[in-house]
Amino acid sequence: MTGSVTERIRDIQSRIDALPRVRLAHLPTPLDACPNLSAVLGCDLSIKRDDCTGLAFGGNKARQHEFMLADALADGADCIIQGSASQSNHSRQLAAAGAKLGLEVFLLPKMDEFSSPVQGNYLIDQLLGATIIPISPDESTKDRKEQLAEKLRSAGRRPYVVGMGATRSLTLGVIAYVQALLEIITAQPDAIPDWIFSATQGSTLAGLQLGCELLGLPTKLVGICPMTASHEAYLSPQEIAELAQGAASLLGVGTGITADQISTTTEYVGERYGVPSAGSLDAIRMLGSLEGILLDPVYSGKGFAGLLDYCKRGIVGPGERIVFVHTGGLPALFSQSEYLVG
Ligand SMILES: *Cc1c(COP(=O)(O)O)cnc(C)c1O
Repeated sequence: MTGSVTERIRDIQSRIDALPRVRLAHLPTPLDACPNLSAVLGCDLSIKRDDCTGLAFGGNKARQHEFMLADALADGADCIIQGSASQSNHSRQLAAAGAKLGLEVFLLPKMDEFSSPVQGNYLIDQLLGATIIPISPDESTKDRKEQLAEKLRSAGRRPYVVGMGATRSLTLGVIAYVQALLEIITAQPDAIPDWIFSATQGSTLAGLQLGCELLGLPTKLVGICPMTASHEAYLSPQEIAELAQGAASLLGVGTGITADQISTTTEYVGERYGVPSAGSLDAIRMLGSLEGILLDPVYSGKGFAGLLDYCKRGIVGPGERIVFVHTGGLPALFSQSEYLVG
């Protein structure tokens, strides 16, 4: 693409605006400077507050659901099916969006170690009017979603399946993060970040990276994955690159993004997905005590632990500009209370 960054932003924005979208999130989210922590780290850190998107405690899915649910409605869907861990942020924000749009939402949460006592996201799900069908931990979520979709279809319904394994909805989630990247650059056009860090499974990173590519920015991206490759919801760099390519084609632009340019790391997972690591606990306390900003133990805490480690190891150089994209997830602070204190 040619032209100045401002012209490119305008062009990409008009391509995004041409896509079906429902309004769910408070946008643009703030980009908060972090002067106290920046002084400690010797860098220039800001946080993109996508924990503040509204929609029943916020998070990155509020932004992504705007495109995904508009697509579902354009497709004639009369209900949405989502399955995941009991403490799913995706499910919580989907239930809230469904309530707002008058769309029936079926949630298939796994009865795992965080489903009882009822707390955090799983508690909030129960208050938002979704139909909740618990499934046992040894069942395949992808299979159970498909079985329910079949059953609803044969009853004359038109279900739209989202979440892991649903490539179209993941691709639309990428578009939402191209939008977030435009917001970051628009907020500080004279302070292009040297680095952007985020917790991600794929869509968020793919969108930020596609946005940087389309604007021609030299920014380095680091996606911190909350799960190892053996997890059912893990996406490989190849799959993430394909999501970016799919989003580029929806926007009608070319992209040179390939798997070897996708920078994700599973280095900060700790023991496993869903349980806080020592690094995430330190990160939560550090950002909380220096900036009054909360992180969650499952995603953003591990993402921020990665950022702190890159600074400590000198991979991020002195004075460099860093944006951390805070993807939300804060209800997990309550479902994981015993890990956080004591
Ligand atoms: C879902 C989620 C992510 C991962 O988002 P992707 O778009 O799949 O990369 C990161 N952080 C939080 C808090 C989430 O809920």
